[in-house]
Amino acid sequence: MITIDGSYGEGGGQILRTSLALAVVTGKPLKMVNIRAGRKNPGLAAQHLTAVLAVAGVCDAHVEGAHLGSQTLTFVPRSPLQAGSYFWDVAAARKGGSAGSTSLILQTVLLPLALAKGRSQITLKGGTHVPWSPPYHFLEKVYLPTLVRLGVEARADIERWGWYPIGRGSVIIQIKEATSRPLLKPIDLNERGEFLRLSGLSALSNLPKHIAERQRDRALKVLRREGFEPDIRIEEGKSLGRGTMVFLWAEFENGVAGFTALGALGKPAEKVAEEACQAFLEYYRSGATLDKHLADQLILPLALADGHSTFTTCQITQHLITNIWVVERFMDIDYQVEGLEGEKGRVSCGR
Ligand code: ATP
Repeated sequence: MITIDGSYGEGGGQILRTSLALAVVTGKPLKMVNIRAGRKNPGLAAQHLTAVLAVAGVCDAHVEGAHLGSQTLTFVPRSPLQAGSYFWDVAAARKGGSAGSTSLILQTVLLPLALAKGRSQITLKGGTHVPWSPPYHFLEKVYLPTLVRLGVEARADIERWGWYPIGRGSVIIQIKEATSRPLLKPIDLNERGEFLRLSGLSALSNLPKHIAERQRDRALKVLRREGFEPDIRIEEGKSLGRGTMVFLWAEFENGVAGFTALGALGKPAEKVAEEACQAFLEYYRSGATLDKHLADQLILPLALADGHSTFTTCQITQHLITNIWVVERFMDIDYQVEGLEGEKGRVSCGR
């Protein structure tokens, strides 16, 4: 049994999700202690509990400690990975509902399902555009297109947007059997190549349309000043809640990166636009291939690839370092990180 101390690094939810995915894929039993010890509300929150139940369903795991607030979990996979049709609703995990992130749950089950025999379809209900997690559009435009390079093919569709605090969004994901099972393909994302285009989305639900127009206009102003001519679309997302967002994605010959800013009560539309633009510009000037979020999210898939992989990122984050630490507890893989936390860097790994 592999024991993981959830208080390591930032002591957040990602240690749990990466551990679960690795336990399922390797078939190794997992004991986790001090779950989310670094957070104000430690233990399993609705999103994490849903992720536990979701991966348990994929390998018929025996689970102890799967309840809200639990800081200890035992997880023993009992069957090979099972592709199929699955439905998970984050709101079901907590009385009164939850806007827990559907993207983070998807990122826990996607690779196990891609490595299973056969196709899967999953329906996920919960938050789709909520703070501290990849918004749905990051999955669609950045994360999934990058995974195609590793042989993972999945298609996402959004039926309803879920904003904080009520969530209740709905996303459907079709996952094919990975082309290179049982391992994924290694990748080389050291150089991003020529800049191809910058695109954007200024989106909202159930709020006056002029907010989306103001977000778009400010983003265009900031980006044109820097010499970019992006195509920024306005979209009204069908939702039971309210919210606004600016999402930018930059495509290069050898990679794609995404930048999000969410609106909030009292936060001017212009500020939302500026936040997303600043994140993009910092990344652009760094010359690196991956944005800081995709970089930490690729640590897990690269652990499952057959051979040597490498990438550059505009920022080495604690999430990235912690994720490497988790992978190294499960497998014999050597990761090299060149660069300091908070700065631009390069990551290489291989078995
Ligand atoms: P906790 O509540 O314990 O902080 P969590 O389960 O919500 O935990 P983290 O452990 O902080 O989450 O992990 C968040 C993940 O979401 C990381 O992989 C991070 O890169 C990703 N993420 C956060 N913000 C964005 C964003 N704007 N775009 C893409 N990915 C993001």
